Amino acid sequence: RNNAEKFEFQAEVSRLMDIIINSLYSNKDIFLRELISNASDALDKIRFLSLTDKEVLGEGDTSKLEIQIKLDKEKKMLSLRDRGIGMTKEDLIKNLGTIAKSGTSAFVERMQSTGDLNLIGQFGVGFYSVYLVADYVEVISKHNDDKQYVWESKADGAFAISEDIWNEPLGRGTEIRLHLRDEAQEYLEESKLKELVKKYSEFINFPIYIWASKEVDVEVPADEDESSDEESSDSTSSEEGEDEAEKSEDEDTEKKPKKKTVKETTYEWERLNDVKAIWLRSPKDVTNEEYVKFYHSLTKDFSDEKPMAWSHFTAEGDVEFKAVLFVPPKAPHNLYQSYYNSNKSNLKLYVRRVFISDEFDELLPKFLSFLMGLVDSDTLPLNVSREMLQAHSSLKTIKKKLVRKALDMIRRIADEDPDEFSGKDEKDVEKSGDEDEKKGQYTKFWNEYGKSIKLGIIEDATNRNRLAKLLRFESTKSDGKLTSLDQYISRMKSGQKDIFYITGISKEQLEKSPFLERLKKKNYEVIFFTDPVDEYLMQYLMDYEGKQFQNVSKDGLKIGKDSKSKELKDSFKELTKWWKGTLKTEDVDEVKISNRLDNTPCVVVTSKFGWSANMERLMQAQTL
Ligand code: ADP
Ligand code: MG
Repeated sequence: RNNAEKFEFQAEVSRLMDIIINSLYSNKDIFLRELISNASDALDKIRFLSLTDKEVLGEGDTSKLEIQIKLDKEKKMLSLRDRGIGMTKEDLIKNLGTIAKSGTSAFVERMQSTGDLNLIGQFGVGFYSVYLVADYVEVISKHNDDKQYVWESKADGAFAISEDIWNEPLGRGTEIRLHLRDEAQEYLEESKLKELVKKYSEFINFPIYIWASKEVDVEVPADEDESSDEESSDSTSSEEGEDEAEKSEDEDTEKKPKKKTVKETTYEWERLNDVKAIWLRSPKDVTNEEYVKFYHSLTKDFSDEKPMAWSHFTAEGDVEFKAVLFVPPKAPHNLYQSYYNSNKSNLKLYVRRVFISDEFDELLPKFLSFLMGLVDSDTLPLNVSREMLQAHSSLKTIKKKLVRKALDMIRRIADEDPDEFSGKDEKDVEKSGDEDEKKGQYTKFWNEYGKSIKLGIIEDATNRNRLAKLLRFESTKSDGKLTSLDQYISRMKSGQKDIFYITGISKEQLEKSPFLERLKKKNYEVIFFTDPVDEYLMQYLMDYEGKQFQNVSKDGLKIGKDSKSKELKDSFKELTKWWKGTLKTEDVDEVKISNRLDNTPCVVVTSKFGWSANMERLMQAQTL
């Protein structure tokens, strides 16, 4: 095109495209759901804008918020059109090629190690999947603020943009034309596309249409000499035979004029989905399979894995909303990396069925940011700015309820896991679904999200006890497995008041600690805390079920009753005095006779509120 401006793809994008083009990945179908998902996002955006400005929608066909698919067998072209927000020239340049998203290189790496393309949408580069099936792609787009442009690329490292003076005006929105590769001709079959939309795009909240062909019978005047042909065709096809039968009835009443029926292909828009919002249905009417499919479509995670758990509920009262929460099978690739500098929530916010935002961080506290799902509120106002929405008083209530439900859901993973000790009577625990599937689920959960639970204990004083119930750790008695505080308490020796723990680098190192000598000998259980965050955790977790926590390397350890302690104290009075005088007071606060040791003659103990040796180590590591 003579008016085209050329651009080079950003290097990472170019690499990604090379990989996609040369991919031997067999599931090429995914491109369609990525395009539909982009179309749906674009429709969400214009619908959101229209809440405060009706004008943006325009009139006539452009105001219809829908997605259309068309096939052109002659041109070997598949096109997908939406009446969404569209892209300006600048949007086209930035979004489709020059600005690589943060997920690009992460996804390239993943592709190279696993070869699995299923998560492409989750990494924010789904558009490029079009090159799985096409060798030449055109994106025609019209945004309200700009003229109509064409973006085009043969994935040869460059793309071109030109003002569109060739195609019909779109009004508003985007049309993507895929010129299909020879080996991808199956995507020109209506039946194939219908199947794909049903399979992957069932939960798209806008109508999806396909320009479908239809064989219809039309009556045309019959020539004189063709009437004999008609008679002989009677026996060739049963279908036509029926037509003939009908026709002869007609002929009884109106003899003239002579007509015959022929098959003709016509086209019309056929609706492929029925836009049912799953969260509006009653939970008891939604099957597990539907939740799993909904999860995949919501999160763009189309791997085979199922979410670990979900919770679908309606909140009533002053603040009304419906919500579906999911625990993803795996933590997002950057969950803890971005924990401290971002607040990113993975919940989508809807107000009265209208999508508002997926970056609404006020819905969940940071420590639950691994959850995915959506909230649809009837209480929040629809036509106000985002800022006003963010400050709305009912958000606090929504957040509080979501946290409660989320913790219940996590608790359920543990309660239903046959490998877990729930502390309840077996008969009180409601077990549902496949036992095998639930087995070991909580350990899996803990390995993925344990840190989040710990951060929750630190950050959320209100739910501290609920979260502490979810805590898992190893101990001197857990035999290499994970155990819980409830389990610990159930094993406490009679007369034992405190919950004992020790912190350090590793279990192996801690097992050799002289602090454990006596406790082990006397058969007391001691918790091992070996995660750096544990040290902070224990500054917040003071007690559990009325029992205090005692760091066994700190002062204040009481191991049962010791009748001889007074006697010992007296007889070693002179020695302790001498030690105290010899060691300077800046170095030690006190010298005491202790019953915590067995073979080791003495240990350095931290004062009750001082930093443990492990904490000192952590702090030192941080300042280096
Ligand atoms: P993602 O959808 O995760 O942002 P994609 O690679 O699928 O990543 O799309 C890249 C960007 O291109 C989108 O964020 C959007 O800005 C733009 N885009 C793609 N398709 C459309 C469309 N049909 N209408 C408007 N913008 C689109
Ligand atoms: Mg996308």
